[in-house]
Amino acid sequence: MQAGDDKTVGQNVSKSPLLKYAAAQNRPDGSLRFTAVADGKPRFYSYRVLAEYPLLVTVGVQDDAALADYRERRLGYMIFAGATSLMVLLFGAIAIRLLNGQFHIMQALRESQVRADSANRMKSEFLASMSHELRTPLNGIMGYAELLQESSSEENREFAGIVLESSQHLLELVDSILDLAKIESGKLELQRTPEPLVPLLEKIVRDHDPSAAQKGLTLTLDLAPDLPDTLLCDSTRVAQLLNNLLSNAIKFTDNGEIALCARRAGRMLEIAVSDSGCGIPDDMLPHIFERFRQVESFLTRRHQGTGLGLALVKDLVGLMGGDVRASSEVGKGSEFVVSLPLD
Ligand code: ADP
Repeated sequence: MQAGDDKTVGQNVSKSPLLKYAAAQNRPDGSLRFTAVADGKPRFYSYRVLAEYPLLVTVGVQDDAALADYRERRLGYMIFAGATSLMVLLFGAIAIRLLNGQFHIMQALRESQVRADSANRMKSEFLASMSHELRTPLNGIMGYAELLQESSSEENREFAGIVLESSQHLLELVDSILDLAKIESGKLELQRTPEPLVPLLEKIVRDHDPSAAQKGLTLTLDLAPDLPDTLLCDSTRVAQLLNNLLSNAIKFTDNGEIALCARRAGRMLEIAVSDSGCGIPDDMLPHIFERFRQVESFLTRRHQGTGLGLALVKDLVGLMGGDVRASSEVGKGSEFVVSLPLD
C-alpha cells in the first residue's frame, strides 16, 4: 500500500473505511470519499476486489487533483453561462418591448375602430332620420315636372320629361342610400305577413314585361310545382330585392332571355334570376355586392346605375335570414340565387 508521497511499502491500512465499505457491498467495485488513514488527507477512492485473490485494488485521488481540470475550465464555464444568461435577458427585454409596442398598436386600433364604428352609426342614423327631408323636395320637383308635361309647348314638355327622369333617378338613389342607412342603423323593420307566393312572383315579373319587351328580350317565370301557397315575408322588401335583380338582368342583357325560377331547396325557398347578358369577370364577381361597386368604370360606363342595388339586395336578404350568391360567365350571362327561409 502506498499513500500520497510516502513511498514506504507495508503501511497498515486495515482500519481504512474503504475496506469496511467494500466488505459491506455486494458489488466487486465502487467508490467512496473519505480521509486516508495513512496520511490524513481527504480523497476520492475507487476500488475493485480481485475475485480469485484476497486482494483489493484501489486508487485514491486527492480533491485538488480531481478538481484541477474543472477549476481550470471553471472561468470559461462561468463566462459562457454569464453570456448566455445575458443573451436570454436581452432577448427577453426585446420581446417584452415588442409585445408592449404591439399591445399599444392593438389598443390604438381598437380605439380607432370604436370611433369609426360610432361615426358610421351616427352617419347612418342621420341619413335614416333625413328620409323625409330629402324625399319631400324631390316629390315637389317631380309633381311640378308632371304638371309641366301637360303644357301646350312641346319644348316645355321635353324639358319637363328630362327633369322628371332625372328626379326619378335621384329619388331611386336617395331611396337606396336611405334604405342602406336604415339597415345599418338597425332601424329597418320587416313587416312580415303570410303572402300568397305565386301571385307575388307573377306580379313582380309582369312589372318588368315592358322594359324587357322594349329591348326585345324574352322574360319567363318558371315555378316549381311544390312551392308553398304562402310565404311569411315582407312582400314590399321581397319585391324590392327581386326588382333590383330583374332590372340589372334586363339592363345588362342585349339579347336572349331573362328568367325568374322559384323552387324549394330543403327548408329554403330559392329564387334564381338568370340572364344571357354580358356576364361579370371572375375578378369582379366577389366584389359586386359591395357598395358603389360597378364592373364598368365611371368613365367607360354605358349603363345607368348607382352601384347600390346589389348591396341593398345582400343587406335585405341578410335581414330576412337568407343569403344571395352570384355566378357568371363573361359573354354568356349571369345568375343570382336568393335563398329565403320557408319557416
Ligand atoms: P348598378 O346600379 O350599377 O346596377 P348594382 O349594385 O345593382 O349597381 O350592381 C353592381 C354592378 O354589378 C353593376 O354595375 C354591374 O357591373 C354588375 N352587375 C350586376 N348585375 C349584373 C348582371 N345581371 N349582369 C352583368 N353585370 C351585372
